[in-house]
Amino acid sequence: MKELSVENLHVTIADKEIVRALSLRVPRGEVHALMGPNGSGKSTLAKVLAGHPDYQVTKGKVVMDGENLLELDPDERARRGLFLAFQYPSEVPGVTIANFLRAAMQSRLPEGEELEATDYYAKLYEKMELLGMDRSFTSRAVNEGFSGGEKKRTEILQLAMLEPKYAILDETDSGLDIDALKTVAHGVNSLRGPDLGVLLITHYQRLLNYIIPDYVHVMVAGRIVRSGRKELALELEERGYDWAREDAAEPALRR
Ligand code: ADP
Ligand code: MG
Repeated sequence: MKELSVENLHVTIADKEIVRALSLRVPRGEVHALMGPNGSGKSTLAKVLAGHPDYQVTKGKVVMDGENLLELDPDERARRGLFLAFQYPSEVPGVTIANFLRAAMQSRLPEGEELEATDYYAKLYEKMELLGMDRSFTSRAVNEGFSGGEKKRTEILQLAMLEPKYAILDETDSGLDIDALKTVAHGVNSLRGPDLGVLLITHYQRLLNYIIPDYVHVMVAGRIVRSGRKELALELEERGYDWAREDAAEPALRR
């Protein structure tokens, strides 16, 4: 089955259970939005999928195209086609984007295999064209003095170059100005297709005006309380997370 599937996942950090019985399936070719109030555990989920060592999985399964992800190192997860937007260096003075991306791609190749410069640049320019990016952009140092939008451009270009099977984009609430928002949206929309599954984590309904997701999931207090089609995002905007929360509360928690 070509999907990224999370089943009954429980995650603990510092003895606190942050993710509780979370299940979610992202088939290849679909864009799933994960929304939810601050502190609901969205970023924790993203970090666990990436293999962050601080988070302890106490129960559950994560399977990517039939393979148990939790047994793999973060590096191996990436090699097998998982992309996480936030794992990149925030600033790398003196290293140009072109060289940074080249190193990232080289590191994905089997040992002894060399990335040809001409092939690399051909692909780089092809992807930049697809994304509508200016070529001069790649001669700048990674994230040095970048605006939010420029950081996102680097990220999206990396996504385009690495051609992962699944991308998890954690759009945290800080620093997403309209320029950044549009860059992410344009990038995801240009790259979406049958070979890519996307889990788009956002706290902003606004982003979903630009990226129309196939499915929307609402996460509250560590689990998915609601899933639906794109209209769910609109309903949430109108009625707020409390509505999703109340309806989904366990009987014992209801007053
Ligand atoms: P979201 O991304 O939905 O805003 P987070 O996953 O960042 O939520 O956080 C969920 C909860 O986990 C919060 O209560 C947060 O304080 C806690 N948490 C996250 N990371 C850590 C950490 N490294 N140490 C302790 N608590 C953490
Ligand atoms: Mg977060």
